[in-house]
Amino acid sequence: MQNEIKLSQKNLFSFIKKDKTSKAERSKRQAYAKMLTLHDYVNQYPGTLADKKLYCRDCSSEDILAWGLLSRNDDKRVHSCNQCGLILWRSINK
Ligand SMILES: [Zn+2]
Repeated sequence: MQNEIKLSQKNLFSFIKKDKTSKAERSKRQAYAKMLTLHDYVNQYPGTLADKKLYCRDCSSEDILAWGLLSRNDDKRVHSCNQCGLILWRSINK
């Protein structure tokens, strides 16, 4: 009986911990969902695609970084300008 109570408390704590992580994840996913897709980015900012190269819509740099949303290997990619730091578009790496 004593053991059962201890076990369920442990489960409760791990559940709370899990929920905290997912809140951070959720806000990242929400931010991601608001980002433009590459298709929308190019349509919305004509001139960012020229000679098969993509440019920052703000500073016109072609130095663009891509990283995973939640981890380095996340399929959801965020692309931002390496010059001015502006987040430009999202893509899915599959
Ligand atoms: Zn820029």
